[in-house]
Amino acid sequence: QQTKYDVVIIGAGAAGLFCAARLGQAGKSVLVLDNGKKIGRKILMAGGGFCNFTNLDVTPQHYLSQNPHFVKSALARYTQWDFISLVSEHGIGYHEKELGQLFCDHSSQQIVDLLLKECQKGQVEIQLRQQVDTVERLENADGGKVRFRLQSNGNKLLCHHLVIATGGLSMPALGASAFGYKLAEQFGLNVVAPRASLVPFTWREQDKVYAQLAGVSLAVNVEAKSGKQFYNQMLFTHRGLSGPAMLQISNYWQPNQTLAIDLLPQQNISDYLHELRQTSPKMQLKTALGRILPKRLVELWLELKLFDDQAIAQLSKVRLQQLEQLIHHWQFDPNGTEGYRTAEVTMGGVDTAVISSKTMQAHDIPGLYFIGEVLDVTGWLGGYNFQWAWSSAYVCAEAIAA
Ligand code: FAD
Repeated sequence: QQTKYDVVIIGAGAAGLFCAARLGQAGKSVLVLDNGKKIGRKILMAGGGFCNFTNLDVTPQHYLSQNPHFVKSALARYTQWDFISLVSEHGIGYHEKELGQLFCDHSSQQIVDLLLKECQKGQVEIQLRQQVDTVERLENADGGKVRFRLQSNGNKLLCHHLVIATGGLSMPALGASAFGYKLAEQFGLNVVAPRASLVPFTWREQDKVYAQLAGVSLAVNVEAKSGKQFYNQMLFTHRGLSGPAMLQISNYWQPNQTLAIDLLPQQNISDYLHELRQTSPKMQLKTALGRILPKRLVELWLELKLFDDQAIAQLSKVRLQQLEQLIHHWQFDPNGTEGYRTAEVTMGGVDTAVISSKTMQAHDIPGLYFIGEVLDVTGWLGGYNFQWAWSSAYVCAEAIAA
């Protein structure tokens, strides 16, 4: 017994479900297979349970890929405004948190429910707890109408179009697997080496003393070797440095590179101390620094003898320069990152050079498509990765439905 579908989609995450809904509503018979016991598990976790589903400001510059032009077509054809309209049609309340990031007012579950309702409208069939064992390409089966045969949980499935939406490697606890990459390789398609991204950094031995600051956060400017910079919150953790500033810069960081961190980007320390020298010359340096930086950080620096506590009036030029260096040019050498266990996304993936940016179809394998994070496309933190899932799924569905 072999069941036949127009389209089989592997992966019931953001991209897979959205693509399935569009195709089902276009009249295609669609089956979605997922290895988990629930659909959209990353959506549920996203945005601290409120799903940052898109961003008001989406441009190709918010994405990284070996081919930076690859995202342009899909992002232009299905924009953030299109997804926002869909969210509104479903009566889901949302708000902008900061930097254009849109979150659900109530819960991420609302986005999963939206996708499920859209799939139901299209009579999409979803099968969970599936283990896809084999995928074969068929030549001229059923007059060319069947191009792939799959075996999943022992069942044989036939389809004309096969869409891979299995996402990246981050968070294996949520079902992440290398399935998409392996399948690409099976069909001779190049995969750009994956690595964990939007991920916290870990301390080197010499910096572990900062672990005692776990919980301290401050707004910083962080700069990668390439010159890419982000201004946002940084959080000290037991393991290293986290917070949005660090997650963002992790997309632009390579092993063994140093990050330059300005711990007081909104103010110049020399100007500040110069002013205090006029108004409160007797004030101790520790007190002065404690007013503009987290006290625990200042106390630790004092313990580590990174500055001497003295009256501001006595501060020498050399000491001031040392403080400038410490505060505005902290050189942080990460040991590495926390890896896939906590990463929000995977950089790298199926090489966009082998995929059509208009349809997401593999150039050399008619009927085989890759959408979402499984591709070598990585967005910034802030709703960009979901927008990529929606946009790439949309153009894929349009191409198949046509
Ligand atoms: P996924 O949503 O990961 O879906 C892939 C699906 O494929 C999963 O259901 C998985 O179980 C299934 N699968 C995997 N392997 C197999 C297999 N072998 N067989 C069958 N099924 C398989 N992005 C944002 O834009 N905003 C956010 O707020 C945000 N928050 C995040 C929070 C966390 C904790 C994490 C981990 C990620 C977050 N992201 C966020 C990133 C975002 O979740 C992903 O980029 C997005 O889900 C990618 O969509 P996708 O459909 O390509 O993959």
